[in-house]
Amino acid sequence: MGTNWNKHTLKKVFTHIDESWEGEVSFLQKMGQFPSTLGNEAPIQEFMAQFFKNELGLVTESIVPDVEKISKLPGYSPPEWTYENRPVVIGTWKSDGPKEGKSLILQGHVDVVSAEPASLWNYDPWGATIVGDKMYGRGIQDMKSGIAAFCYALKAIKECGIELGADVILESVIEEECTGNGALTTLAEGYIADGALIPEPFGLVGLKAQVGVIWLRIKVTGSGAHVERADRAVNAIEKAYVLIEALQTYRKHINSQPKHPDFSNVNHPLNVNIGMIHSGDWPSNVPSECTIEARVGFYPGEDPQKIKDEVKAFLLEEARKDEWLRNMEPQITFYGFHAAGVSLDTNQALFKTLEMAHERTTGEKMDYTVITATTDIRLYNLYYDIPTTCYGPVGDNMHGADEWVDLNSVKEVTKTYAAFILDWCGVRAGSSQP
Ligand SMILES: [Zn+2]
Repeated sequence: MGTNWNKHTLKKVFTHIDESWEGEVSFLQKMGQFPSTLGNEAPIQEFMAQFFKNELGLVTESIVPDVEKISKLPGYSPPEWTYENRPVVIGTWKSDGPKEGKSLILQGHVDVVSAEPASLWNYDPWGATIVGDKMYGRGIQDMKSGIAAFCYALKAIKECGIELGADVILESVIEEECTGNGALTTLAEGYIADGALIPEPFGLVGLKAQVGVIWLRIKVTGSGAHVERADRAVNAIEKAYVLIEALQTYRKHINSQPKHPDFSNVNHPLNVNIGMIHSGDWPSNVPSECTIEARVGFYPGEDPQKIKDEVKAFLLEEARKDEWLRNMEPQITFYGFHAAGVSLDTNQALFKTLEMAHERTTGEKMDYTVITATTDIRLYNLYYDIPTTCYGPVGDNMHGADEWVDLNSVKEVTKTYAAFILDWCGVRAGSSQP
């Protein structure tokens, strides 16, 4: 156990978490009722700022991402939208006195993906409905439940009168689902620490690797006309098939290559997802343009720019096999995620402390997982030398209909974070007496 605290301290904090449970659940429900999709984060960020300030007593700052400033930094991903009125919120609990332990960032994203088509849901996506041990709603699992957990972990420690040996910084960020520029903003503004945890909901396990992700857009041009002259026109939707097939061929190609060791047990580590397609405006018109948007995964250690060049060359080569596309070359551009993969050394102190905290809560050894998606941990680990991993609740259907979180696991995550904070930050002598 860390200095100046013992199992009685931990028991007191755990009991406090049990006693505050109703408050934590209702806090999570309130968060879940904000439809905080891209561009609509302002109301929940105002709510979070008030909570950090008034409920947790933190020194709170809201910062709107400054593209001018962050676009020069490694890890930046180019957005196609504005950051106006879309702040990140940061609350600091400054430790009083000389630093005795290690400082910590606890970060979560409040941006969520679309809930559409809402008709597929059995519950209101913004209702935060509780049925048994589950709470349903878009963003409840990914990842408002994790934010509720670290807020209530810190709240319990504070309300037990414990003084920590180092600073704790809580962050409610935006843009995790598209660029990571929310997290990058906090780092660029100087919010750094000796370690960070992000409670992405991978089910009470530590994260040891994640793939890289890029987004691309392919514009296919045909030659539009009225349908009666369709034999002389070139249908852009039909020509888009060539590119869709090329993306599928690329997917097969990259997954036929030797796997990165961290992903050796993953069946299909590198997904190429065709996520959007736009074309046409009238049943009797031959569409002259078709736009496909896709997401490509790649292994840790690869430069996102190199992958972009590779994908582009591969697709253009496939396109050249088509007579029309040979002369009317598809336009391939990139925006959003420019995210490198991450492979972590789990022998670092952060992981050992997390393993211990998990064991104190569950009585079991903590497992590790790898994910075939990206999270904000890449920015901390790759560009700021801040050891960072994910550990969060159990749930299912993230990014799908009827997303839910298991509330019992949220309570366990709350306790694990509390145990982690005590160990990592340390406790000032005399402040943990019953
Ligand atoms: Zn997430």
